[in-house]
Amino acid sequence: MAPDPSLDPSPSNLPDPELTGRPTPELERPLPDPPDRRVGFALVGLGAYALEQIAPNLASTQHARLAAVVSGNPDKARAVADAYGLGRAHVYSYDTFDRVADDPAVDVVYVILPNAFHRAWTERAFAAGKHVLCEKPMAATVEDCRAMIQAGRAAGKRLMIGYRAQYDPYNLRAIEEIRAGTIGAPRLVVADHGRILDLSELRDQWRARKELASGGSLYDIGIYSLNGARYLIGEEPTEVTARLREPSGRDEVNVEEGIEWTMAFPSGVVANCSSSYRVSDNKRIHVQGAEGGVTLDPATDYYVRNLFVETDAGRRQITIPRANQFARMLDEMALAVREDREPKTPGAEGLRDVRVMQAIYRAAETGAAVRIDA
Ligand code: NAD
Repeated sequence: MAPDPSLDPSPSNLPDPELTGRPTPELERPLPDPPDRRVGFALVGLGAYALEQIAPNLASTQHARLAAVVSGNPDKARAVADAYGLGRAHVYSYDTFDRVADDPAVDVVYVILPNAFHRAWTERAFAAGKHVLCEKPMAATVEDCRAMIQAGRAAGKRLMIGYRAQYDPYNLRAIEEIRAGTIGAPRLVVADHGRILDLSELRDQWRARKELASGGSLYDIGIYSLNGARYLIGEEPTEVTARLREPSGRDEVNVEEGIEWTMAFPSGVVANCSSSYRVSDNKRIHVQGAEGGVTLDPATDYYVRNLFVETDAGRRQITIPRANQFARMLDEMALAVREDREPKTPGAEGLRDVRVMQAIYRAAETGAAVRIDA
């Protein structure tokens, strides 16, 4: 067979380079902002979540960038700064943090410390004149949450809580399906989050101590069941009942490892929820309606989410490409700052969950249903 002349790579056969330029294609993702126009984030705490999820995903955003790091470990802080091309001027210790006030590269302080430090660091960041993104759970008590909101108001700065699942396209699509009536009127939520608390891991050691974690599995992962039920149903719970699981007997653990609770919603929906540090990985949220069900399993994993919708017509799985919940969450904070508006998950959202979690603990202690006033 004679060779195909169009496959001949000799220079004389190459097309005229003048003819190869094309107009910009229709882009699914708009071009990102150049580095000098992005909103700068300082990470406080360089632990597992900060280094494995947040720092790398800042690079996938459209509007945000890593601008500074704050750590109690100078070697680690320098190594992270070098890896991300940050100058030494943008490396802070917990002691020198307040100088961030004079660092124009930093717009937002992202608090990724053990829960008991969230309030104090949020207040410190506001005092330095910065906006704050704070990890969940927002703080130990409702009073702490109110103080954080008030500190933001007094400083004229924005406060957002890092509820990444509320930016996740899978969870957002589940909300859409439910609101569109695909499964009829929602009646029941079943939401469970569990994992083994591994005390050989540094990240789990503080989680075992109330003085650092502020609560147990409920504050750490049960909050996903709680927050998920609230956003999927789109209502606020009015009453909770709860039961603590038997303690594990581990001396190092002074928080609850397992808890089960119910939440009643104004429309009559009931949510049966659990969180546990003694079961293998489990991140499932299911909403059953009068005409079908929506299942997210896993609902709140970092990388894998599966969404199923089941009706009389059968069961379908919905797949969404490029669903980077971290980048979307970080971009929401960046845009809220740039557009001078409230972010989608503000301090008030974090406070609502803390109020319900406190009611859940009260219900577990007393054995009685606890009402939550609007
Ligand atoms: P981690 O233990 O890996 O990191 C905590 C960081 O805080 C470490 O760098 C540690 O050195 C520092 N730290 C400062 N003082 C400390 C002290 N006295 N004791 C212990 N550590 C101290 O924990 P993590 O998993 O990164 O969690 C940090 C925060 O992020 C928590 O609020 C957690 O709820 C939140 N988080 C959120 C998600 C999410 O998906 N939204 C996931 C993981 C963690």
